Amino acid sequence: MFKNVCVVIVSVLVAISGVGHGDVLVSGELRMDVEVMPEGARVVGLRDTITGRDMLSGRRLPLFSVTLRNGAGESVTVDAEAGWSEVTSESGDSELILTWKAPKEERLGGLSVRVTARAVASEHAIHWSIEVAPGDGWTVWDVAFPQAAVGALGEHTAVLFPRGPGEVQVDPWTRGFSFSGRYPSGWTSMQFFAAYNAGASPGCGLYFGHHDPMGSVKELLLDCDADSRSVRLAFEHHAPDRGKAVAYRLPGVAVWRLFRGDWFDAATVYRAWVKSEARWWPRLGLDGRPDTTAWMRELSAWAMTGGGPGDVVEEVKDFAQWLGVPVGFHWYSWHQIPFDNDYPHYFPAKDGFAEAVRDLQEHNVYVMPYINGRLWDTRDKGGEDAEFSSVARPAVTKDENGEPFIETYGSKESDGAPVRLGVMCPSTALWQKTVNDIVLRLQNEMGVKGVYIDQVAAAAPALCMDASHGHPLGGGAWWNEGYWRMLESIRGEMRADRMLTTECNGEPFIHQFDGYLTWHWQYDGQVPAFPAVYGGAVQMFGRAYRGGDTVDLAMRMKAGQQLVYGEQIGWIGPSALRALPNAEFFRSAVRLRHAIRRYFHAGEMARPPRLIGDVPSVKADWQWSGEWWVTTAAVLTGAWRLPREGRAVLIFANVSDAPVTAEIEINSNDFGLTGPNVVIEPIRAEGAAELEPVSVGIRQAVTFPGVSVAAWELR
Ligand SMILES: [Zn+2]
Repeated sequence: MFKNVCVVIVSVLVAISGVGHGDVLVSGELRMDVEVMPEGARVVGLRDTITGRDMLSGRRLPLFSVTLRNGAGESVTVDAEAGWSEVTSESGDSELILTWKAPKEERLGGLSVRVTARAVASEHAIHWSIEVAPGDGWTVWDVAFPQAAVGALGEHTAVLFPRGPGEVQVDPWTRGFSFSGRYPSGWTSMQFFAAYNAGASPGCGLYFGHHDPMGSVKELLLDCDADSRSVRLAFEHHAPDRGKAVAYRLPGVAVWRLFRGDWFDAATVYRAWVKSEARWWPRLGLDGRPDTTAWMRELSAWAMTGGGPGDVVEEVKDFAQWLGVPVGFHWYSWHQIPFDNDYPHYFPAKDGFAEAVRDLQEHNVYVMPYINGRLWDTRDKGGEDAEFSSVARPAVTKDENGEPFIETYGSKESDGAPVRLGVMCPSTALWQKTVNDIVLRLQNEMGVKGVYIDQVAAAAPALCMDASHGHPLGGGAWWNEGYWRMLESIRGEMRADRMLTTECNGEPFIHQFDGYLTWHWQYDGQVPAFPAVYGGAVQMFGRAYRGGDTVDLAMRMKAGQQLVYGEQIGWIGPSALRALPNAEFFRSAVRLRHAIRRYFHAGEMARPPRLIGDVPSVKADWQWSGEWWVTTAAVLTGAWRLPREGRAVLIFANVSDAPVTAEIEINSNDFGLTGPNVVIEPIRAEGAAELEPVSVGIRQAVTFPGVSVAAWELR
């Protein structure tokens, strides 16, 4: 099977030469060089053979590092570079197998690590796997793999990482930038990075992903080193079965892939994998998600406010009437208990709640009350521990000492102490039934069309170590599977015209939710990588709209970005919005979205059109966390397509108050439309601007009026 087998046994080798040897793995236009050294092995080159560029920097980082523990609680970390007495490589046409055995630290005994790098030449990719077998008396705790330091890829190097919708930083080492986050969560939403230089021709980029079909918990790590102008990319996996003497195997494969393009091309690679293998990719029909009720798929605007019926009903009804389209209403504090306190005892509702729900839903408003899907108050009846210890405690997540994971937010008990909320384990029957009962009671007794279950796709898994729960201890995918069972059961029981949503956009729950609240998409430099992967697979809705001196511009930037990203627009207090000078801009964006809504639930995102020329930028304080300045182009652009219908739409939002003239060249091939008969026509919607007519395939100047939205359709 293998062309050659190299075995480096230190005692022999030192006697012969004192040096190691090299191995090469070629995959299409990607070439990887590995050096097998006397005490370890490392990747020494990762070359784009077309441009000749080595994508790795000189900064040395081990390909893996493994943390082990023994019964006495001692922790030891070993890595790929040194500390081994026996390192072997076996190489063939399309595979390289590296094995590390006989650790120099003798108490680690029979520890061995086996890494396989498989070339997938058609994709210029290397697929990695790793298996770690602990020695007697040891258990695998964490495995960082793979890890690399990517260097400058040309004049400017951009790095994409999956915070919120995806974010791009250019030459991040010049600012000492770093990012880390536990996946899956709203701030670490997908399992890939990309580093690329899109400016050169041909471009050169590295896609760095983990294609794990179960979405197991892991840390994503990115940090920069100014001296070596390099960015470290790594995944760190928390082993399942912590405490057991079993081998760790990477679920799925890690992927290093040479690509030429930008963040959109990297997202396209990830989308192709997700569609074919990820367990959370939903079934899609001609009209998008058949299991999401049509009203939710087609919704274009959201109100968000809280209080009793007397505080909210008229305001929200007026909002829907003003917009002239159906509206979703995220209703907070509909319950008598205070917010983030006495959870999960949401009933009774405030007086008149069910009647108010009926009234609203007769007036073009779909009501979606708030509940939390994760927390149980440790003092759950005012200041008293009514059921936390007696009922909830066995099902709360626990650390290795058996102590519950407790969180605090801003809420206070009546004595002024912070409300301490236990993180419930989603694998337990108690928590699954508790959430199930609340959701179905809200839908069946109160008549609400939707329920928002807070935190499920926002907060990362707790590494629960309670063996009585029956799940693997620590890492793995059991957290996702617990929520999948809970939500599958709710969906199985709920009526077809109802829906479920959750907070943020951690990906592996998509098939069990109809909507994801994208309120935290608030970052400077963000790009719609998540919509590029998941457009059409889940409805995205809502941004946190806030105040400040630049509130009107910030509103336009957020609403404009929501429009081109394909989100349902708003999640805003109607009175605050309508007090703004440019509230009509919001209304126009909603009405334009409503006119092209089919693209967002039955279609998919296409590459956003590029404007050529001097497009100014705008900057406003988005107030996400204190003062929070975000800069975007004055004219935001997006494109969506309906491949089976031979249609595409190009969307523009000039969020500045001045007209902007720029050139655009529309290539219909970018949208999968070919032939001489492609026509382009404006979308007419109330409040949308009428742009000058353009032709396909010709570079033309277009003026976008200030504070305007517009769209063209290609057929
Ligand atoms: Zn547990």
